[in-house]
Amino acid sequence: NVKNNQNLVDQLIEWDQKHFLHPTSSVRAHQQNGPEHIFMEGNGVRVKDIYGNEYIDGLSALWNVNLGYGRTDLGEAAKKQMETLPFSSSFNNYSNEQAIKLAHKISKLAPGDLNVSFFTSGGSESNESVFKIIRHYWKLKGQEKRTKIISLGRAYHGVTMGASSATGMDTFRTFSTAHSPDFIQAMPYLTDCEKGKKNDLNFEHSIRGIIEREGEDKIAAVILEPIQGAGGVNVPPGGYLQAVRDLCNEYGIFMIADEVICGFGRTGKMFGVENWNVVPDFMTVAKGITSGYIPLGAVIMKDSFRDELASLTDNILFHGFTYSGHPTSCAVALKTLEVLENENIISHVKDMEAVVLERFETLKNRHFNVTNDRCVGLLGAFDVLKDPSSNTRFAPEQNAAMVVARGCNKRGLIVRPVMYKGANSVVFAPPLVANKSDINEAMNIFSEALKEFE
Ligand code: PLP
Repeated sequence: NVKNNQNLVDQLIEWDQKHFLHPTSSVRAHQQNGPEHIFMEGNGVRVKDIYGNEYIDGLSALWNVNLGYGRTDLGEAAKKQMETLPFSSSFNNYSNEQAIKLAHKISKLAPGDLNVSFFTSGGSESNESVFKIIRHYWKLKGQEKRTKIISLGRAYHGVTMGASSATGMDTFRTFSTAHSPDFIQAMPYLTDCEKGKKNDLNFEHSIRGIIEREGEDKIAAVILEPIQGAGGVNVPPGGYLQAVRDLCNEYGIFMIADEVICGFGRTGKMFGVENWNVVPDFMTVAKGITSGYIPLGAVIMKDSFRDELASLTDNILFHGFTYSGHPTSCAVALKTLEVLENENIISHVKDMEAVVLERFETLKNRHFNVTNDRCVGLLGAFDVLKDPSSNTRFAPEQNAAMVVARGCNKRGLIVRPVMYKGANSVVFAPPLVANKSDINEAMNIFSEALKEFE
């Protein structure tokens, strides 16, 4: 009843403010205003808050609840495994049925010879692991100086020490201490430079320029998201990923694709790199692998790399997490991948891409400020500019993307504003099960929210 509910609301808000330090949130705003939302349940693409208000989740929580809310099959997979063998260690070559089956399944899905998985609990741990494993490898090869990791400006790779050092968004990279000089950010999408064109003003900021300056024998790997997510849904031009692949081959440097958002169907392909038919040396994954129902991540590598590690040392791989290969997480991942295939989710995503693009076009026609719309699979965004015809931005203090996001929120749609270095992007990445009517409903809300600029 209402009174009990009001007591519960008050209690939760009080405890939240007193005891819960929120990740990636304003500490001050939390102390002043309490939690933004308290969510209680979800179904399909929708979530309900403690007041009973319903929202379309236009970001799939954190680009991870890809199969939507309320899937009893995923819950049952977890329950069954928890009741059978909730946890089992994978250290010292102990193993368990679910981790084995998942590693096998991933080898079938991943492109090329990416046939071996190292399991983690999330995206940051996966990136941290790939950096350490690659440096370990170079050390074993007698190339200890190969420590540097090149990433891209605006990239997001997570928040552990290595992952945040590789992150291109300064806000995250400089949050703690100054980032390690072993991590260098290149300017995104200088395709011609990466192909070898040197008389370009920006050459020194290209990956190739950095390799030439630092010395190829100092570079361990290049990491990039096939499509940048948190940095504002930035889609590389055709030919860019291939140019980076060729460049890495030319210098014998590893190429890592951070598929934490793109992996498992988000872009209308199983993996983001498949949009450009590029096979990296490593892929890091998390999020969609379990549809967010339980934490899990992985580093996926070539079997030739693993074989070489085995040939180089009989030492223990001194790297692993308690939860590497967690049987319950792996059971949920196996069920997630089964659903992706059995319900033809990825071809549905491709169909919905066309719907989003068509509706973005309508938004652009209706709303003067909307421009630069893009969507690959169900990874979409548009920008808002004060005047797109002259490329004039809103003043930073106008927080234009936030105005749109708040306007949407008020009307029952959760979306992510990205305000980075003066750009204002609004991200739309609903669960992969979103249908045409969900998308239309979301777009109508966008349209209402955009009227705030008129
Ligand atoms: N890499 C990418 C591309 C991401 O988007 C994220 C999270 O948003 C991460 C890594 C970090 O993953 P996690 O938050 O699970 O540590």
